[in-house]
Amino acid sequence: MAIDPVCGMNVNETRAENVSVYKGDKYYFCSVVCCEEFERDPDAYMYADPDDLETCYRDDAFDCDD
Ligand SMILES: [Zn+2]
Repeated sequence: MAIDPVCGMNVNETRAENVSVYKGDKYYFCSVVCCEEFERDPDAYMYADPDDLETCYRDDAFDCDD
């Protein structure tokens, strides 16, 4: 299973229809909506730790870098 980085849903990568490649890595999405959202601003979704998603998720005004 892969994790949809936009909404956090589990995605079966063998059946995923919405895939994006960013910096050499493949990302899988539950829907084309999430895929398009990701491609609009991929760096906003580069948090590996789900805990970070809670605080940093799509808040452009929030500076996630220390
Ligand atoms: Zn999604």
